[in-house]
Order: sequence, then C-alpha cells, then structure tokens
Amino acid sequence: MEKQAVEKARVAFRSGRSRPLEFRANQLKELKRFLNEKEQEIAAALKKDLNKKNAYVANTIRGREIQLALENLEQWAAPRPAEKTLLTISDEVYIQPEPLGVILIIGAWNYPVALVVQPLIGAIASGNAAVIKPSEVSVHTAKLLEEFLTQYLDKDLYPVVNGGVPETQELLKQRFDHIFYTGNCAVGKLVMEAASHNLTPVTLELGGKSPCYIDKDCDLRIACRRIAWGKFINCGQTCIAPDYILCDQSLQGQIVEELKMALKEFYGEDPKKSIDYGRIINQNAMKPSVILVTPTVLTNVSPQDKLMQEEIFGPILPMLSVGSVDEAIQFINQREKPLALYVFSHNKKLIKRVIAETSSGGVTANDVLVHFSVNALPFGGVGNSGMGSYHGKHSFDRLSHLRACLVKSLSMESMNAVRYPPYSQKKLNW
Ligand code: NAD
Repeated sequence: MEKQAVEKARVAFRSGRSRPLEFRANQLKELKRFLNEKEQEIAAALKKDLNKKNAYVANTIRGREIQLALENLEQWAAPRPAEKTLLTISDEVYIQPEPLGVILIIGAWNYPVALVVQPLIGAIASGNAAVIKPSEVSVHTAKLLEEFLTQYLDKDLYPVVNGGVPETQELLKQRFDHIFYTGNCAVGKLVMEAASHNLTPVTLELGGKSPCYIDKDCDLRIACRRIAWGKFINCGQTCIAPDYILCDQSLQGQIVEELKMALKEFYGEDPKKSIDYGRIINQNAMKPSVILVTPTVLTNVSPQDKLMQEEIFGPILPMLSVGSVDEAIQFINQREKPLALYVFSHNKKLIKRVIAETSSGGVTANDVLVHFSVNALPFGGVGNSGMGSYHGKHSFDRLSHLRACLVKSLSMESMNAVRYPPYSQKKLNW
C-alpha cells in the first residue's frame, strides 16, 4: 500500500504534469476549495481530536498562504538572474528553481490539518508530487484528510497514506526526493537516519523548550495576557508555546496574579466549562480520547526539576528565577537551541541584546507565537529544534532545487583564449 502510493506518485511526477504553472495554480485552488467547502467537517474532526474551536482561524491562515502562492507563483518559479563575472559577461547566467520530485510529508497531531496542508502548499507550488502521512494520533482528522483531500487533488500526485509507526517506517524505506517531517526530536533522528540511505534531504520541524524572559522594566499586565493566550491556546500543545518563564524572583507573585486575571478573562472562573479551552490528546492510538488539564502556573521551579528536562507540551507553566538578563542569556545558552524565544521589556536595547547573544529558530519580542504568522519570515528550528524552514516563498525554495544555469553562445571564442594551455606567464598573471 505504502510502496504502491509512492510508486504511483513517482510515475505521475515523471509524466511531467505537476510542472506547468497552470496545473500548480489549479491544484492550489482546489486545495483552497477543500478548506472552504469542508470547513464544517474539518471543524468537527478537530473538535473530536482536540476539542478545537479555531478551525476557522487556522483555515483562514492556510487560505492566505495559498493566495500568496497563487499571486506569486510566476515570479517564484521564474529564472532568477545572477551576477556575472568578467569571463561570463556575455553569457546568460541565472538560477532556475526546479521541482525536486516526490516529497514525503509526515505530520504531527497538535495542528493536524495545518501541519500537512502548509508543507503541501509549498510542494504543489514548487511542482512536486507529495505523499501525505497525517498523524495517526489525531485519528478523526487523519480519516478526513484521506477521505476528502483526494477528492479535490490529483490522486496519484498527492496520495494520503494513513497508518501508525509500522506504516510510517514502511514509507521511510521508500526513496523520496525530500522528507518533510514535523514532530518530536527522537523520531526526527529516525527520519534522518532512514533518509540517509538514499541521501534524501530532510526538513525537520521539531520542538523543544522555548524560553520566555520577562524583564523588570515591563508592563506585566500586557505581557501576561499575551503569554497566557500563547501558552494555553490548544491546551499548551503548540510547538512554539512558551515552555517556561525566566524572571527576577520579585516579579513572580505579580506574574501569577496577572496570569490568573488573564485566564479568568479568557476562560471564565472554571476553564473546564469553557468551550474555548482545549483538551490534551491521549496518545494511545488504540483508544484515542481527550483529557482535560486545567492551566497551571508553578513558581520557584528549579532547573533540576523534572518539568525542566523535557518539552512540556501541555498547559503547565513553570517560572524560574534569574537575577539579571545576563543570567537569563547564560541559562538559555547552556541548553539546546529552542524553536522560539520570547523576551518582554520596554527596553529595546535589552531586547536586541538578547537576540544578539542567543540562538533560536525564531524570536518574538513583547508577544508570543506571532512570528509564525508572518509568511515573509522563515519558520523552522535550529540545532535540536530542527533544520530547514518554510512558509510563503521559503516553502517554495525549500522544496525546489535552485539550479545554477549558464548558457553560452558558440561565438566569441577568442574571449576564452586565456583559459587554454599552454599557460604563459602573461596568462597566469591575468
Ligand atoms: P506524533 O506522535 O503525531 O508523531 C509525528 C509523526 O511521526 C506521526 O505522523 C507518526 O506517525 C510518526 N512517528 C511516530 N513514531 C514514529 C516512529 N517510531 N517511526 C516513524 N514514524 C513515527 O507527534 P509528536 O512527535 O508527539 O509531536 C509533538 C512534537 O512535535 C513536539 O515536540 C512539538 O514541539 C513538535 N512540533 C513541531 C512543530 C514545528 O513546526 N516545528 C509543529 C508541531 C509540533
């Protein structure tokens, strides 16, 4: 089943039909039509998988990304002129983006539609075929994608293959031209290992512990509202959610109070009763269900605590004391490079310093998550939080081969005399 899907996609890619810009635009429009026409079905599946209510917002973001690709496709796919050297001055020198071939897209469960649709937009725009493997953990969404996506898109070029670990491992034995994986670091390593057998390039969209530093010179009310939104949306199951707070000991009490106020404003006295509050997914694929965990903020957490050893990926927010911004920077740099980094301060110089002296996939200052929503910014990790980035034109470039092209004419041979032997001193000095 897995092997057949890949073979069919390969044959379809070799037929050349995914390459014309008109075809790519049509498929992108179909993908948009799928998101619009099946909005209710998508919302119902997300509700069952994660108690999500925000399918509309998520679809709108994907819709905008499709629109951006449609508006810019011609420009992105066009030859890009390159600067010439003296010896190639009369030649045509350019970069030609070309499709890679068959892409494997493996999605994670926390944003189960977005995490396969968003890379798929890039795969279609850049003229590739793509085998789509949604997460089996978000079972309802996986079924929906299998049932409906193929009704809108070319079935052979863009098949959906559902299944768990054995099926994914079977897929990974096949030859692809790029593997685009979203999920945890441990599986990311397995994906990269499998890819190495065919020297297949990979994009790994992983996770990690994204720190949030709050400076003393800060409007804590505003900071805490923004943090509470980004941390507790989707019940903390967001790859770039702030994982922990670093701040001066003296701020902790006030931060707790402000977070409480913000949570009350968003979800009422009892988040359990709020239809806007998500659920934790049960990762038992045999018995998928959702679990409710209410927002929890912990003060005076030590770096040795268990909570600080792994990505939390739930609605629990630990706070750790640091005496200064220097200490915060040191704390961050002693750990794996995170997917996102947040800093809250009125002091622009301090913000720029934190950016200059640390490393992370992306940074947002005085807010959380928002860098993700800007198509012009590359989204991805660095070090342990991943490799390769996408969104907007970055997706197009990531899934294209940027081919170096030089077209010379057979005339003006005298210009080449300098490069042919025998090499006189005059030629060598040239
Ligand atoms: P998951 O359990 O859905 O796994 C992801 C995919 O890996 C699934 O399709 C699954 O079938 C496959 N898989 C699982 N085990 C496998 C194995 N042994 N061999 C081959 N394939 C296997 O998702 P997850 O890993 O729990 O996702 C959560 C993690 O993903 C978090 O660390 C989060 O931060 C990260 N994440 C990152 C991004 C990003 O864009 N960087 C987005 C979402 C989630």
